[in-house]
Amino acid sequence: MYLSKSKYCNAVQCKKMLWLNEYKPEEKESLNESVLENGTQVGELAKNLFGFHIDVSFNENLKQMIEDTKSLLYLDKVVITEASFEYDNNFCSVDILKKNKSDFEIYEVKSSTEVKDIYKEDISYQYYILNNLGYNVTKASIVYINSQYERNGELNLKELFNIEDVTEYVKEKLENIKLNIKEINNYMNQKREPDELLGIHCVKPYNCPFFKYCTKGLGNQNVFTLKGINNNKKFELYNKGIFEYEELLKIKISDKIKQQIEFELYDEEDYIDKTKIKEFLDKLTYPLYFLDFETFQMSIPLYDKTRPYMQIPFQYSLHYIINDELKHKEFLSEPDIDPRRKLAESLVKDIPKDVCVLAYNMAFEKMVIKELAILYEDLSDHLMNIYKNIKDLMIPFKDRYYYSKNMHGIYSIKYVLPALYPNDPSLDYKNLDLVHNGSEAMNMFANMCNLDKDKQKELKNSLLKYCELDTYAMVKIFYKLKEVTS
Ligand code: SF4
Repeated sequence: MYLSKSKYCNAVQCKKMLWLNEYKPEEKESLNESVLENGTQVGELAKNLFGFHIDVSFNENLKQMIEDTKSLLYLDKVVITEASFEYDNNFCSVDILKKNKSDFEIYEVKSSTEVKDIYKEDISYQYYILNNLGYNVTKASIVYINSQYERNGELNLKELFNIEDVTEYVKEKLENIKLNIKEINNYMNQKREPDELLGIHCVKPYNCPFFKYCTKGLGNQNVFTLKGINNNKKFELYNKGIFEYEELLKIKISDKIKQQIEFELYDEEDYIDKTKIKEFLDKLTYPLYFLDFETFQMSIPLYDKTRPYMQIPFQYSLHYIINDELKHKEFLSEPDIDPRRKLAESLVKDIPKDVCVLAYNMAFEKMVIKELAILYEDLSDHLMNIYKNIKDLMIPFKDRYYYSKNMHGIYSIKYVLPALYPNDPSLDYKNLDLVHNGSEAMNMFANMCNLDKDKQKELKNSLLKYCELDTYAMVKIFYKLKEVTS
C-alpha cells in the first residue's frame, strides 16, 4: 500500500481504522470537533523560524513534488519547506528541512501546546524514509506552540514556538518503523473485514471516526453511553463482557451512574429534591442577573497581552429580573479589533456592584472576568466585585437535586434545558439561524471581518439571537426550579 504520514499515524493508532478508511469509507462519521486550531496558519508562520526558505508547492502529482525537492537539494545550504520524499511506497513531506553542508535537520510543526506521542511516530516515519534514501539526518525535532508566550508588539517567533529535539527517539525507532510498515501492508491486503478489539486506542490520541460503526451492535444503552466513568474503565468493562445496562447494575458503580442507568432502563419519573433546591434558591437575591459570554481562541495571539489559545470574550448576553420584570442587555464587538476593553467597559456599566449574578458553569465566566480585571486596572475593582458575586445555576443539576432521564447523566445546559422543557420550539437551538452552538459562534465571529456588510449584519443578528437564548435558557431553568419548589 502507498503510505503517507497521516495514513501511517492512523494505522499506529489502529490498523482497522486505516482498513475501514480504505474499504468502507462510507461508514466514517464526521466528528464535528471544535475547530480551534489554525494548523495551516501555524505551519506557515513556523516556516519563517529559520529565516529564508524555499517552499515546494503542493501538487496532486506527488512525483512532481519529489522532483522539485531533488532540484533544490543541489544547493549547498538551504531551508526547504514541504520537501518531499518517497522510499519503497512510503511518501512524506517534511514541514521544514534544513540542509547544512553535509547533513540534514528535519522539523515537524504542530499547532498543539504539547508534544504528543503520535507526533514522535510521525517524525520517526519521516526519519525512516530519509535515512533509507541515504540522507544523513543528524537532528529531528518537533516544533509546537509555547502556551506561555504573551504577545507584546510584533510576534516573536522564537518565543511563540518551542522546539523539542527527538533525535534519539527517532533513531531508536528505526527498526520498529520497518516492522510496522510490513505489518500494515499485510493487514491492508486482507479483503475480509478484520476483527479488532475496542480499547483506549479508539479515543486516544484521537476519537476514531468509525467508533459508531464498530459499536453498532451494542444498541443505544451501553457502557459507552454512560457518563461519569473514565474511558479506561469503560473499555475494561466492555472487554470483560460487561456493557449492557442490566449487567452494569450487578457490579459496584457509583450512585450517580446507577441513577442514570435505572432512570433510562425503567423510564423513571424526574427526581426532585425540593429542600435542596429551595436552599439553593434562598441564597439568590434580587435584582438577579443571568450572564453568558461567548469567546474565541486563536493558536497565534492576535492582540497585545494575549497568549495562544486564550479565551477572548467578544460577546455577552445579560438577562435580569428587577421588580418582577425580565429585562435584557447585550454586547457584541465589531470584528477585527481587540474586543476586550469595550466589552469590559460595557459589562461594568450593565452590571451594578453587589448584585447577584448567575452563570451556568461559572468557572468559565469567572475566568474571563478575572482575566479582564488583571488587564484593566481601572475596572478591576468593579469586575472583581461581579466576580465574587457570581453563583452557579449548574449546581442543582450537577449535584442531582434535579434529575431527569433525558439528561442522560449530563448537566450541560444543552441537555438540561430540553429535559426541563421538552418540545418547546422557542428554546430549541436547532431553530436558530446560522449559529447554533458555541463553536459556530466562535468560528463565525473569527471570520466575520471577511464578509461584506450585509452578510456581517445577518451574522451579527444570529450571534445576538444565539447568545440571548443562552441566558434566556438560564432564566427558564431558574423559573422551573421556582415552580417545582412553590
Ligand atoms: S473504533 Fe476502535 S477498533 Fe474500530 S476502527 Fe476505530 S479505533 Fe479501531
